[in-house]
Amino acid sequence: MRTKLVAGNWKMHGSLATNLGLLHAVRDGVKGPAEVAVCVPYPYLAQARAVLDGSGVAWGAQDVSEHAQGAWTGEVSAAMLADFGCRYALVGHSERRSFFGDTDAVVAAKFAAALKAGLTPVLCVGESLAEREAGVTGEVVTRQIDAVLANSGVAAFANAVVAYEPVWAIGTGRTASPAQAQEVHALIRARFARDSADVAAGLRILYGGSVKANNAAELFGQIDIDGGLIGGASLVAADFLAICSAA
Ligand code: PGA
Repeated sequence: MRTKLVAGNWKMHGSLATNLGLLHAVRDGVKGPAEVAVCVPYPYLAQARAVLDGSGVAWGAQDVSEHAQGAWTGEVSAAMLADFGCRYALVGHSERRSFFGDTDAVVAAKFAAALKAGLTPVLCVGESLAEREAGVTGEVVTRQIDAVLANSGVAAFANAVVAYEPVWAIGTGRTASPAQAQEVHALIRARFARDSADVAAGLRILYGGSVKANNAAELFGQIDIDGGLIGGASLVAADFLAICSAA
C-alpha cells in the first residue's frame, strides 16, 4: 500500500509575511492519511523549518545543484538543503527544463546529488502539447525516466518520487482527465516494473498540472495516481488543504 503524498510547489511566490500565515494554516489544518509537503523558495527554507519542525508537514526545495560544493556561484547544494531539514527536492520540473536548460543529463545528475545527501528527489517528467498531439507522450516520458535510471539505477527509486506533469496542464487551468493521467501513470509504473517489480509497486507517482480542490479526488482515485504536485492551488491554504483531504 502506497501512502499518498501531496506536495505544494510554491514556485517564485511569497514573502516572509505572507508565508507565515500560509505555513501556519497548512501545519494546523492538515489531517488525514496523506503525507503533505511544501517546496518553498530557497530563502524561505529556514522559515518553513521554524514553523513546520515537529509537525506532520515536510518541506523541500524546488531544485538542487548537481554539484556537491565549490566555485559554483548561485548554486545551492543538496547538503545545504539537508542542513535545513528538507526531505524533498524537485528535480527536472518542466520550468527548469524549458527556461533554465536542464537537460535529461543535468536532471539525472541533480537526482543523484539529492539522493546522495539523503534527500528524496521528486523527478518531474511530462510532455509538451506538441508532443502529446504528435502521439509521442510515452516516448518522451520514458526518455526522461531512462536518463535517470541509466545514471542511478532502479534501486534508487525506492527512495524517490516521480511526478507526471503534462506541460500543457501546468498553470493553464487545463487538467489532464483522470483517464489521460492514469494512462501515463500506468505506463510509467510499467517502465519501472521492467527493471524491478518491487520498486514499481512501491513507487509513488504524483500527478501535477492544474490540480484544484474540485478535481483532486477524481484524479487521486485512479489506481496509479499516488497524490499530487500542486502549484497555484498550494498558495491558498483552504484550497491546498482541500486537496490534501482529497488524497
Ligand atoms: P499548477 O502547477 O498546479 O499551477 O498547474 C503544477 C506544477 O508546476 O508543479
